[in-house]
Formats: sequence, structure tokens, C-alpha cells
Amino acid sequence: MACVVLAVDFGAYAYHWLMHRNRILWEFHKVHHSAPTLNAATIFRVHPVDIVLRTVAVGLVLGVVTGALRLCFGAEPLAANLASGFKLYAVLMAYLAVLNHSHVWLSLGPLEYLLNSPAMHAIHHSQEPRHFDRNFASLFSIWDVLFGSFYKTTRRPEPLALGVDGTDWSSVFFPRLVVLPFQNLLRGKRAPIETGAKLTATDATTRDRGTIHDKSTFARN
Ligand SMILES: [Zn+2]
Ligand SMILES: [Zn+2]
Repeated sequence: MACVVLAVDFGAYAYHWLMHRNRILWEFHKVHHSAPTLNAATIFRVHPVDIVLRTVAVGLVLGVVTGALRLCFGAEPLAANLASGFKLYAVLMAYLAVLNHSHVWLSLGPLEYLLNSPAMHAIHHSQEPRHFDRNFASLFSIWDVLFGSFYKTTRRPEPLALGVDGTDWSSVFFPRLVVLPFQNLLRGKRAPIETGAKLTATDATTRDRGTIHDKSTFARN
């Protein structure tokens, strides 16, 4: 069962990393990052293409892992563990997805080397260049630690500007957000990928001046 949970979680991490690295995929994932604030509704602010690709990516990783497990342990024990592993992961993620998209700065201290936290995911949504491509984890942050994308938070909240491209997306209706990636791709207009390394000083300044900056700063509590 643990292998199933780990496989699904690694698939989600690998997929999330790819969505930030590939320019076309980023267009679709950007819809989730366009949220100007984090709240329970943000987990539903996901482009349908993003949902389909996530399912396919996780399924591929899970297929490889379960194939190996079947060879080692046989089909029957695997079927039981697969079902219970899925249930456990679904319950954990239903809880954590809401918690991690809350507008609350909650750091887990040393536990963050193992588990994702609301503060870690807030960093992932930050527009600050030093936070780009950090904390891709869904459940276990061990993948971020292993692959160098880990950004540890402390109990002291960081002032964050949430959103993407320094644009105020708060008044854009979701149906428009669904259409925008296709329009941008057809026009050949692709947003810059959020990598600190590729940013120029001008880019960083532009992002800092984004209209979202002042709206969604985490208050100290
Ligand atoms: Zn992301
Ligand atoms: Zn998110």
C-alpha cells in the first residue's frame, strides 16, 4: 500500500515539475497559478487539460510501479493494496489540498522535509523570483528534497505576492481562463516560464510591480 501511495505522489510531483518546465504545458497550468489569493476554491481553479494530463501522468507512473509489484508479489495481493492505497491517498489529498490552499501561514518546521505544508505551497504560488520552481510536492516533500526544488519555510511568515505574470486575474471569469491558453498557443504568444535562472532584472522588476502584489500579501499573524 505504501508503494502505491508513494507512486501516485511521485507521479503528481513529476507531472507538476513538467508543467512548469514545458512552455505549452505551462500555459494550461498557469490557470491554477493565476489565483490572486489562496482559499478552498483555488483547488478547483484548474484547467481541464491540466486535470486530464495529471491523471495520465500519475497513471503512467502507477502503471510502471504496479507492473513491477505484480511481477514480485502476484496479482491478487496487488489488487487489494492498489485499492486501499488509492483510498488512503484520496483521503489524505482531499484534506491536504484544502489545507495547503488556505490563506494561512502554517509551517511544519522540520516535518517539512517529509510533508508538504500550507506555507510551502504558498511559496509555490509566489511571484517572487527566488520562489520560482520550488515546492512542487502534493503530499510528500521528499521529492522536492531529493530533486533540489525544496524551499523550507519557517514559522515567520514571508510577505508574498501571489499570482502570475504580474497581472490582475481576479476579475477574469473561469470560462475565459479555459479559452486563454488555446488562444495564446494559437497566436504563438507564450508566457515566460517561471524560472529564476531565465529571468532578467527587468522581468523581475516587472513581476514585482504586478497589480496583484499589494492585494495578496500574507499578513503576519
Ligand atoms: Zn505549479
Ligand atoms: Zn496550488
